[in-house]
Amino acid sequence: MSDLTCPACNSSKIQTVKVVRTHRAPLGRPKNYTADVNTCLECGEEGDFNSENSKEMKIAYLASGVELVRETISELRKHDMSPAFLDRVLGLERGTIAKWESGVDVPREAIPIMQFLKAFPWIAEAAEEGYTHEAVARVIRSYLLL
Ligand SMILES: [Zn+2]
Repeated sequence: MSDLTCPACNSSKIQTVKVVRTHRAPLGRPKNYTADVNTCLECGEEGDFNSENSKEMKIAYLASGVELVRETISELRKHDMSPAFLDRVLGLERGTIAKWESGVDVPREAIPIMQFLKAFPWIAEAAEEGYTHEAVARVIRSYLLL
């Protein structure tokens, strides 16, 4: 791009190379995105001079996160936690988890919820019993013994 200038020396002699990088949501799988690497031909400064890469990173994060949401719901089914059960304990409208599992209209907020459930799946069982101390202690013990 001709409007790029070097942040170090203000030169407009910039070379841009496209590289493939990965980004991911925590606990999710990495997704590729194409990043611009700008190099100043005057002073050698290198980087993303006009922050073009953040949009691509965000897209990769969301792709990784949506996949994590779908896979976590699938894993929770194996622990006998159905979508209807998860709707109930998370206080979500009926059908929400099934919709997320299908990958349709997955809101960004679903990602941290499923990261939390992936890391601490027992919390859903404790939630079913109103997070009583006894319920939390019992489900933690049962998961630690697995
Ligand atoms: Zn420069």
